[in-house]
Amino acid sequence: MKPLLSVRDLTVEFELTRGILKAVNGASLEVHKGEVMALVGESGSGKTTFAFSILNLVPPPGRITSGKIIFDGRDVLSLSEEELRKYRWKEVAMVFQAAQNAMNPVMRIADQMLDTAQAHGKTSRGEVLERASELLRMVHLEPSQVLHAYPHELSGGMRQRVIIALSLLLDPKMLILDEPTTALDVVTQAYILDILAEIRQKLGLAMLLLTHDMSIVAKVADRVAVMYAGKVVEVGNIEEIFYDAKHPYTVGLIKAAPSLIGDIADKRPIPGSPPDLINPPPGCPFHPRCDYATDRCREEVPVLTPIGDGRVVACHNWQQVHL
Ligand code: SF4
Repeated sequence: MKPLLSVRDLTVEFELTRGILKAVNGASLEVHKGEVMALVGESGSGKTTFAFSILNLVPPPGRITSGKIIFDGRDVLSLSEEELRKYRWKEVAMVFQAAQNAMNPVMRIADQMLDTAQAHGKTSRGEVLERASELLRMVHLEPSQVLHAYPHELSGGMRQRVIIALSLLLDPKMLILDEPTTALDVVTQAYILDILAEIRQKLGLAMLLLTHDMSIVAKVADRVAVMYAGKVVEVGNIEEIFYDAKHPYTVGLIKAAPSLIGDIADKRPIPGSPPDLINPPPGCPFHPRCDYATDRCREEVPVLTPIGDGRVVACHNWQQVHL
């Protein structure tokens, strides 16, 4: 089966005064129709730049310097501006990080919905408001209370649910969510994750969920891709990753994740810090932090390699790695 999204060897560079920063460095990933893929990594791992690239929306001075992005059979990097405008809400929509705080404060929710729909050629006010009401109910909000409200009249969690409803207004095939629960309290986080799982079941759309937090991944994702220093270093389904991770960085993320049932004393942060992406270490970029590093790791960059059952990992010593 052909993937809905295929990203191959993507590189995104930022030309800074200190040198060239490779925020994404030869990253590859596939997402299938209807699946929820979690893209996990520490901040600065390249997740957000990777997501912006899928929309061909990398902010300057960033620039996609190589790679291919194919969405539903179309080459995204060769779409015209007009084609991109349609692609960006109708094919792939994105809920940006902390988007709930960036809503237009002087527009009622109904007008924000109408504005978005009209910008994409949907002019029937009645039809748009009807669809908006359906979507608001889907995110457990009462349309009669929310549509006429201004953003400041809603809580952070409610605004986040409005943004999710708004992003679904043009029926995209894929929704990208960048840290969708980060600014929210724990109870609201769990509630939003439940809602995302329901939406996925009802609408059957694909989701790419960007997060630094392994503990929220298990709740909604089918598969997990782990990113480090601008590269995808491991991809597997949720059970494989949580019970049999094969990249030492994935193991580190799992051990560092807070657990509601485990002892807090068992939580072990990954030692060291992410590499300088202008001057990354030679060989495997994880080697200064890795318990499994050998001489080969300090010289040779590991490539993403199939290890069976559709899993891939970029590590010279994956056979020795255990959780
Ligand atoms: S290639 Fe070497 S340094 Fe990199 S993750 Fe694997 S064992 Fe660690």
